Amino acid sequence: MSAAASVPMNMATKYGSDLRNFLRIDRPRPFPVATDSLRLKSILTVKNGNTESPETKPRSARGFGGIETWVFDLDNTLYPHHLNLWQQVDQRIRDYIVDFLHIGQDEAFRLQKDYYRRYGTTMRGLMEEHGLEPDQFLEIVHQIDHSPLTPNPALAAAIAALPGRKLILTNGTRRHAEAVMRRLEIDAHFEDIFDIKAAELEPKPRPVVYERFLARHRVDPERAVIFEDLARNLEVPHALGMITVLVVPKGTGVVLREEWELAGRDAPHVDYVTDDLAEFLRGIAAARGN
Ligand SMILES: [Mg+2]
Repeated sequence: MSAAASVPMNMATKYGSDLRNFLRIDRPRPFPVATDSLRLKSILTVKNGNTESPETKPRSARGFGGIETWVFDLDNTLYPHHLNLWQQVDQRIRDYIVDFLHIGQDEAFRLQKDYYRRYGTTMRGLMEEHGLEPDQFLEIVHQIDHSPLTPNPALAAAIAALPGRKLILTNGTRRHAEAVMRRLEIDAHFEDIFDIKAAELEPKPRPVVYERFLARHRVDPERAVIFEDLARNLEVPHALGMITVLVVPKGTGVVLREEWELAGRDAPHVDYVTDDLAEFLRGIAAARGN
């Protein structure tokens, strides 16, 4: 895992935050003709998606034929950002900070976002800078209303059709992940969940999280693909040899997100970009003849 150690940690600041780039890439781009017989051009968008881009073609042309393990982030990846589920957690974190540090909502908001950006999760920042005890925090902030989630049979079928193991890698808790997956009715298709506690409270994108995850589940990164909604969480997986897929919201132009969260989708560590995960997975399975 020496490759991971050389990956710089503070990735958020190194990307530009050019919103125009973000809007530009939302329009589907033609998929470069792959050399391995995959025919995914109608559903995939690829970073620098043209055949004249020699520096990206080898990665982009790498297909899914040898994939054994399918790794999924949870929040805003397996369900759409606009359901505002994560925003409930976001608000509960803010309320927790108000009580914990005896400060107002505005200051709590500032700290929350600052720690999230610098430490990977707000919790990690609160632990390191304020001695937060994480167990109660995790329990309280994930007590949200999961009812906006409804069964997603298209996604369930697409995941089921993929050959090999499927695993969740989340900065949230196992209990929250289980609740989300039950509501979506996709839980039966996953072998396991690697949550923030399994990661010993270290968050993505810290390299040690991916190292622990790969070791725990004996995943060969060269035969694995990872799906994520945050580009910065794909940098280490890419360095380790995984295929990386950035999942962006449908019609993303109107979704309000922090610019740094949107940055990075043009980065070389993003192999594929899709705004329709189920359709993307269906295309892979079809190309493999599943
Ligand atoms: Mg996510």
